[in-house]
Amino acid sequence: MGETLIQNANTILTMDDQDQVFHNADVLIREGEIAAVGQGLVSSGEILSGEGCVVTPGLVNTHHHLYQNLTRAVPGAQDALLFGWLQRLYPIWSRFGPEEMFVSAQLGLVELALSGCTLSSDHLYLYPNGARLEDTIHAAAQVGLRFHPTRGAMSIGESQGGLPPDHLVEAEEAILEDMIRVVDGFHDAAEGSMCRVGLAPCSPFSVSRELMRDTAILARDKGVMLHTHLAENEEDIAYSEAHFGCRPGQYAEELGWTGPDVWHAHCVKLNPVEIDLFARSRTGVAHCPCSNCRLGSGIAPVRQMRDAGVSVGLGVDGSASNDMADLMGEARQTMLLQRVSQGADAMSPYEALQIATRGGADVLGRPDCGRLALGKRADIAIWDVSGVSSSGSWDPAALLLAGPSKVKHLFVEGRQVVRSGEVTTLDLPGLLEQHHRMAQALILAG
Ligand SMILES: [Zn+2]
Repeated sequence: MGETLIQNANTILTMDDQDQVFHNADVLIREGEIAAVGQGLVSSGEILSGEGCVVTPGLVNTHHHLYQNLTRAVPGAQDALLFGWLQRLYPIWSRFGPEEMFVSAQLGLVELALSGCTLSSDHLYLYPNGARLEDTIHAAAQVGLRFHPTRGAMSIGESQGGLPPDHLVEAEEAILEDMIRVVDGFHDAAEGSMCRVGLAPCSPFSVSRELMRDTAILARDKGVMLHTHLAENEEDIAYSEAHFGCRPGQYAEELGWTGPDVWHAHCVKLNPVEIDLFARSRTGVAHCPCSNCRLGSGIAPVRQMRDAGVSVGLGVDGSASNDMADLMGEARQTMLLQRVSQGADAMSPYEALQIATRGGADVLGRPDCGRLALGKRADIAIWDVSGVSSSGSWDPAALLLAGPSKVKHLFVEGRQVVRSGEVTTLDLPGLLEQHHRMAQALILAG
């Protein structure tokens, strides 16, 4: 792979332990790692001009359902509440198979890459018609993003009082067996890993208490992470109190779902006791601000979580609740929402960008990512601040206040995935044509 020198960038926001910021400086990439950050670096390898640019660590997406990219903005589901939305989409998702999972994941990961994302997790919880987790793993390998897929699951179907039709849920024994298969087959625990598998029942309401507990035991046995949706809205809290006799935080704790190897999506309704529990147990949170807005769930107490020491990252969530996967936009929305609820000084653009980069990496258990420092992985986003959206800005490094929201260049593990705004790793027009055709066929069929 050799060396690449990003030379003479206007600003480098390292997000390292000292929060170092460099001006008119360089980043040297060697064999997938950051070899140096500073002024006057030299290299005999490839030279890429950083002039007119701000360099940041790649952004980290901690929550997504990539398969939903094929069902964006579906008529009849755009303004529906959760139940109606699911009723509209379950029949469409029932027609998915391996190819749909693969193409949808490719499209979603390309979209993320263009918004500066270098590491994404995914939460895939239905497996119709022979679809498997590796359909998405192969897609990520082709796009070139670092990938943390999670083996999701639903086991309570309509006949047992659940929401999904019975043919979209799986037997719990089969779920656990497949969890073992995908961890053994695809999880790479090594530093610099491009693929780490997690285990992720869809939500506490879509599987049994026993499967939640057994999944946690299996994850600890295999040394992989746990992920699910938690405390998303008021109905979520009411359901937990009515069916489990406790709040979601307590339910999670009782079943082994707290700890540094666990992260929960949303957590909009965590109360101070639960925030304290998450801080003490070092349980992570995937904050999904646009999804929370689109569904009217509320404003997550990110300020309180951060002040208490909770590890928080960002998630775009799936097209179910956010039809756009713009991770830089989520960082901006994070800052804006905290200001709406707590005043204009509640969160700086720098802090929001910190949450989007090293914050997310920490949530996913990746201290080797999310910061530009010696020996860390060369996952780098380069933003052109010489264009329209940042012209006149007195502080182009405050990327969330002006712009741009799309990267000029993107490196993952030292490999250039986006060059001058174009994805280098696949035929994008071909993918768009295939994705569009597939989406049309799925929707028109019913
Ligand atoms: Zn979700």
